[in-house]
Amino acid sequence: MAKRSSKQFGVLAIKSKDKSQTYNRIRLTSKEKSELLIEGLVTIILLILLNLAMYMILVQIIQTSVSLESFTNRFMPSIYDAFYSPRAMIWKKPIFALMAVLDIAILYWRLIRRYKQMQQRHIISELHYISSGHYDHRIPFDLGGDLGKLIRSINALVDSTVEAIEEERRIEQSKDELITNVSHDIRTPLTSIIGYLGLIEERQYSSEEELLKYTHTAYLKSKQMKLLVDDLFEYTKVRQSNTPINLVTFDMQQLIAQVVVDFELDAQKKEVTIDFEPSPPSLLMSGDTEKLVRVFDNLLSNAIKYGTDGTQIIVISEKKENEVIITVKNDGKEIPKKSLDLLFDRFYRVEESRSQQTGGTGLGLAITQSIVDLHHGQIYATSEKGWTSFIIHLPLEQPNHSNN
Ligand code: ATP
Ligand code: MG
Repeated sequence: MAKRSSKQFGVLAIKSKDKSQTYNRIRLTSKEKSELLIEGLVTIILLILLNLAMYMILVQIIQTSVSLESFTNRFMPSIYDAFYSPRAMIWKKPIFALMAVLDIAILYWRLIRRYKQMQQRHIISELHYISSGHYDHRIPFDLGGDLGKLIRSINALVDSTVEAIEEERRIEQSKDELITNVSHDIRTPLTSIIGYLGLIEERQYSSEEELLKYTHTAYLKSKQMKLLVDDLFEYTKVRQSNTPINLVTFDMQQLIAQVVVDFELDAQKKEVTIDFEPSPPSLLMSGDTEKLVRVFDNLLSNAIKYGTDGTQIIVISEKKENEVIITVKNDGKEIPKKSLDLLFDRFYRVEESRSQQTGGTGLGLAITQSIVDLHHGQIYATSEKGWTSFIIHLPLEQPNHSNN
């Protein structure tokens, strides 16, 4: 596509590609300047001819009107002197002045009209330029009045269209990534399942014990696949903003206490203690309990799984004004700063957990965040001074208390 020069479209300053571009007055090309000059000259000639014709007609009317002459001669001698005496020319002065004012007004009006047409031409050519695929370009003119408003509206429209296209592209790309990740995560256990079942099929085992070992591994890998498919199903379900949530009134402190009890055995096995600090001891609020249990399940299982060298997990649930702030924190190795923002991305796992046998699907925190979003809350992670914390803010009341 031909590169567009600022001269070609009569722009005073160079246009920058970003939104902070400088806006300029429209500068006319030399062709347009000549057009304007010709328009002015033609108008002046036409006006002179018109004035001449009007003057002649007026003189004719005044001088041929006998009755008017005799009437003014008799009753209005001063007017007679001004118009009919050969030496009097006074009446011509205001007429000439009036004509001059009218001429200037007409000339100004025609030139402005033509200039506006030229501005519109510039705007149209800018629009053609944008529509030919230069979506990072904006109309760079700074005009007042309606044309200025039009330019600002067009630029805003292009901005929102470009944003919509980019959003569409991002969605498309993230779908592709999802398919790639899912196929990769399903292929790995599937390959081992096929491998072990192949050994059994070809009877490449020496004892029943070995056979059982193969079937057990295939079973574990199948369970891993099932977990991934379940998580994926749940993730796609909670991702949709119109996902129905089953709102009930419940006691948040009781719900967390129950989840903590469920994890005590796992924690003991890893020699980790879990402390729960509810404040106040009972806190009624509304939410989807099934989904919220999933949130704390994931946060606690993460704290147990990934709290390397940690010995302590603390859950704090406190009421602050109209919300509850729940912190699930564990001591141990910190999460690197660069990973903190990525934790909530689907399939993201901090490097070391990928290779660990304990490593899950990487969907847990993405699901957690979507559930918190469904409850109009917020979740974020911090990791400093030997503590990794996941902090959730949830409003006590949900906007709609029905199943929506
Ligand atoms: P899933 O929860 O789906 O079984 P996962 O636990 O690997 O899989 P997420 O819960 O999304 O996935 O966690 C993403 C990653 O964040 C984990 O793999 C781990 O690397 C890191 N992570 C999460 N919680 C902690 C924690 N408390 N301490 C250290 N790292 C953590
Ligand atoms: Mg997890």
